[in-house]
Amino acid sequence: MKAAVLRELKSPLVIENDVPIPEFGPRDVLMRVKQCGICVTDVRIASGARPVGELPFIMGHEGVGIVEEIGSEVANFIKGDRVLMNPLVSCGMCKNCSSARDNLCENRKLIGISPGVQGVYAEYGVIPERNLYKLPGEVSYSDGVLITSNLASAFHGARRVDFKASETACIYGVGAIGKLLALVLKSFGASLIIGVVRSEKSLKAAAAFGVDYLINSKKEDPVKRIKELTGGKGVDAGFEVVGKHEAILQAIASTRAGGRTCILGVPFYHVIMDFEDELGFFHEICEKEATIINSWGYVRQEFPMMINMVKKGLIDFSPCRIKIIPIEEVNEGLKLNKEGLYTRVIIGF
Ligand SMILES: [Zn+2]
Ligand SMILES: [Zn+2]
Repeated sequence: MKAAVLRELKSPLVIENDVPIPEFGPRDVLMRVKQCGICVTDVRIASGARPVGELPFIMGHEGVGIVEEIGSEVANFIKGDRVLMNPLVSCGMCKNCSSARDNLCENRKLIGISPGVQGVYAEYGVIPERNLYKLPGEVSYSDGVLITSNLASAFHGARRVDFKASETACIYGVGAIGKLLALVLKSFGASLIIGVVRSEKSLKAAAAFGVDYLINSKKEDPVKRIKELTGGKGVDAGFEVVGKHEAILQAIASTRAGGRTCILGVPFYHVIMDFEDELGFFHEICEKEATIINSWGYVRQEFPMMINMVKKGLIDFSPCRIKIIPIEEVNEGLKLNKEGLYTRVIIGF
């Protein structure tokens, strides 16, 4: 089969035509890959920032495709089914799995990310039956990629704060995930969504995703403006999606007393939370009984929910910009991911 193979870190992936089709076990499905999203995690793996053990390695964890063959014990799929893969292979047995938090599984593995677990930058991939979800006819392959990539972490964040109909929200960072978070919050019944960005370019792009107000934090104080827009109180749920020290503090400060702040951004550098403040920031946190929540990835229960909401049109991906490229252009695709012009760059077979 054809695959894009990582043979050397910091070097372009190599397109190979004679990679053996992977063997599969009794509870596995051999999926013929139709599309696979290119993720910033892949960029980090290829650069060596995220170790994947011995090379060669096949990346790719955001796959959708068609069931080609099934293992002898597979009961829920037949050849020809359109499917979406959840790359997070959880054990189903540990304490977190038992409480519907398999994103925190003690024995988790990630397809296309964990050492030795080959991904789907390839014509075929092996996926455990438990990690596959049927895609209804109304949900396109690209919609499937958007579900398993950008949408999933946004959706989980909204569920982590138990976002309710008619609540207000602010989003610090309206990039690839922040935009999808706006779509999710709208679908959950948000009455007001305020986006905070740092460039004019993202101001324009965010409007199409249902953000009601956009604040350029380079031009005005976002906390002050959010308070003004919410009768002096702050939003019910504040979200931080960029993983930046300043934005985390601002998101907390923008949330009303008794509200919830959700941090989705993952900092990849040393963050110093500087509480040496004359403004009484920590005092404010105490006084308003702040609930500060982290959101990490997504849980398996969320896939049927997301697929159903996209199927019913409750979450509408039409403002998303996607670009589908052939696998031969995967190295250009990895570069395009860094530029951030598209909601998702997707390899299509
Ligand atoms: Zn990803
Ligand atoms: Zn587990």
